[in-house]
Amino acid sequence: MKISHIEHLGIAVNSIEESLPFYEDVLGLKCYNIETVEDQKVKTAFLKVGDTKIELLEPTSPDSPIAKFLEKKGPGVHHVAYSIQDGVQNALVEAESKGVRLIDKAPRKGAEGLTIAFLHPKSTEGVLTELCEK
Ligand code: ZN
Repeated sequence: MKISHIEHLGIAVNSIEESLPFYEDVLGLKCYNIETVEDQKVKTAFLKVGDTKIELLEPTSPDSPIAKFLEKKGPGVHHVAYSIQDGVQNALVEAESKGVRLIDKAPRKGAEGLTIAFLHPKSTEGVLTELCEK
């Protein structure tokens, strides 16, 4: 697969509202979009850092995957998302053929209208890995 850059880092937080002051007032970044992804039961806030973004993830329900992550590990880095140049579908086929366990068998819609798919952390040295394309 062809990766151009890290599209974003996903960071799990208990509250976007309570986390934003660190990113905006201390780091001087700007939140330009807040969006709820219903099927993931998550509210997201995006901040730009050059070509890369920070995606803050707040659970909207106790059975959200982010709620489970926060319960187990507390707030912190949740996933790394790579920008794929030659298609997420192709990348999934390639990853699976190389023995990587997939969370998503097919690409789906993520925040910001991106096409996304996740690889299982058991196959990626412990880092939940997201592949995405515009
Ligand atoms: Zn993400």
